[in-house]
Amino acid sequence: METDYLVLGSGLAGLYFALRASEHGRVLVVSKHSLTDANSHEAQGGVAAVLGAGDTPEKHIEDTLRVGDGLCNLDVVDMCVRQGPQHILHLANQLGVNSTASPTASSNSPARAVTAPDAWSTRAT
Ligand SMILES: Cc1cc2nc3c(=O)[nH]c(=O)nc-3n(C[C@H](O)[C@H](O)[C@H](O)COP(=O)(O)OP(=O)(O)OC[C@H]3O[C@@H](n4cnc5c(N)ncnc54)[C@H](O)[C@@H]3O)c2cc1C
Repeated sequence: METDYLVLGSGLAGLYFALRASEHGRVLVVSKHSLTDANSHEAQGGVAAVLGAGDTPEKHIEDTLRVGDGLCNLDVVDMCVRQGPQHILHLANQLGVNSTASPTASSNSPARAVTAPDAWSTRAT
């Protein structure tokens, strides 16, 4: 079997990469168990991204480091926080993911969690 891109894992990271790579060549996704046997399939609280009014990358980084309890790599947090919004918008606008129009606020942080009701209802059935 020949392919241009071999993707190991069928979670969000693997499938998102596979979608992007498919614009450039053939893609083969290989997973350890079934395609849906991934943490991504269990996630339900939404993806955090700086999209809401009054939020900033600096606040998101600060929140992430606080709840990370010293385990976070600052460079990785910084990259994810700053690149997150463009990928959320790509999922919504280019790939048609039906996510909530405005992020949901939590008790002590700016509105930040983006959810996809259609993905959740698919998983729940
Ligand atoms: C119950 C639960 C709820 C969560 N809720 C949220 C949430 O609300 N918001 C949030 O941001 N995050 C949440 N998370 C965390 C989130 O799910 C993960 O951070 C994210 O899904 C990781 O994506 P991933 O693609 O890197 O890994 P995964 O989704 O774990 O995918 C890994 C893939 O690699 C495959 N694999 C592993 N080893 C091998 C191997 N040796 N060979 C081939 N394939 C292999 C697996 O089978 C799987 O397909 C939650 C996690 C859980 C478990």
